[in-house]
Amino acid sequence: MTDETEADLTGGTPRRRPKANVDKVGNRKLKPSTMMMGHGYDPVLSEGSLKPPIFLTSTFVFPNAAAGKRHFEGVTGKRPGGADGLVYSRFNGPNQEILEDRLGIWEGAEDALAFSSGMSAIATLFLSMVKPGDTIVHSGPLYAATETLIARILGRFGVHWLDFPAGATREEIDAVLGKAASGNVALIYLESPANPTNALVDVEAVRASRDAIFKGAKPPIAIDNTFLGPLWAQPLKQGADIVVYSLTKYAGGHSDLVAGGVLGSKEHINTIRLMRNTIGTICDPNTAWMLLRSLETLELRMSRAGENAVKVCEFLRTHPKVEHVGYLGFLEEGSRQADIYNRHCTGAGSTFSLYLKGGEKEAFAFLDALKIAKLAVSLGGTETLASHPAGMTHLSVPDARKQALGITDNLVRISIGVEDADDLIADFEEALKAV
Ligand SMILES: *Cc1c(COP(=O)(O)O)cnc(C)c1O
Repeated sequence: MTDETEADLTGGTPRRRPKANVDKVGNRKLKPSTMMMGHGYDPVLSEGSLKPPIFLTSTFVFPNAAAGKRHFEGVTGKRPGGADGLVYSRFNGPNQEILEDRLGIWEGAEDALAFSSGMSAIATLFLSMVKPGDTIVHSGPLYAATETLIARILGRFGVHWLDFPAGATREEIDAVLGKAASGNVALIYLESPANPTNALVDVEAVRASRDAIFKGAKPPIAIDNTFLGPLWAQPLKQGADIVVYSLTKYAGGHSDLVAGGVLGSKEHINTIRLMRNTIGTICDPNTAWMLLRSLETLELRMSRAGENAVKVCEFLRTHPKVEHVGYLGFLEEGSRQADIYNRHCTGAGSTFSLYLKGGEKEAFAFLDALKIAKLAVSLGGTETLASHPAGMTHLSVPDARKQALGITDNLVRISIGVEDADDLIADFEEALKAV
């Protein structure tokens, strides 16, 4: 920080960060769950208010013209790192910046950005990295809207794509990256586990392949970590450069908001921030505030949901009306997927695929009989949700591709919440009687 900035800070200008963040007590480095209660916020800056107020303002007052100029140098990228003060609510705001500071902590990321939705985060990432003629190499399948964005929307602007299946081996990844390397690969984009197959991507293998094939400038590896992050998977540790979130899911966790996040090195985040500053895909202050509240209980919620899912899946897998439970906790020992899981994941999550014996009729009878679990798409909320991918989220997917992805008529997707596990088991047991 320059002397000039210091002077502004003491002069009562809007400040970005508290002077001292507590991330250690004695020699002990604090855990993310502890830091969620205070990091990035200083009550002294807000009249002692224990919790940050919601800053409903479209613009911020500069203490003097020179400070305004310097802030704009940050906003426009003349100086990297974003504005060092608050400027205008399309660029930044106190609630969003506290949120970004706290988001980054979970994965030990250098920096983070908050967005108005998971898709606006992904779209901003793509727009900041690709130009006509470039190729995006991605794992497949991806979240349906992400596939649409790459193939149909960026495709209109002359961006190409190549993909490999989520469970691909190093050799298969090498083959696709090697082929793509004859053109300009702007980005390697992953999603793990894939929805609804639950196939895990070997991020370490993708990283090794990328580093072996691209000798000079290396395309960044970005990964959508919505399903397992940040508690059960932290892909920066396996060599990803950028992590993407739909914060609508586990991070928000109460099915009451839509938001997105991107985490990574300062260098990548600066590039993405410039695009966000231009197109205005930042989340609003109220949503940022709600996410701050969500993050305080993130570990509690995800831990409980994960424990519930173990119990529910154990019950379902032995039930006579169940054909198969596609749950990361049940990977076959010694299989390649189990190997990836052991290297990359610390928990199996709480979203899984339930294949009933029968077809659509049986699946619908089950769904319609549920009393606690709600019939809705989405995941990661406090309440248990169930849906029918073939008839809902993946309705427009061609039959052949549905077959290849295992999206059959007897498939029900379930996201387990934080209710009492035995109540949930009773709900599923009763609903299976109706099948
Ligand atoms: C929901 C979801 C998205 C999109 O997020 P929105 O917040 O709905 O825009 C992206 N990726 C995955 C894996 C998701 O589950």
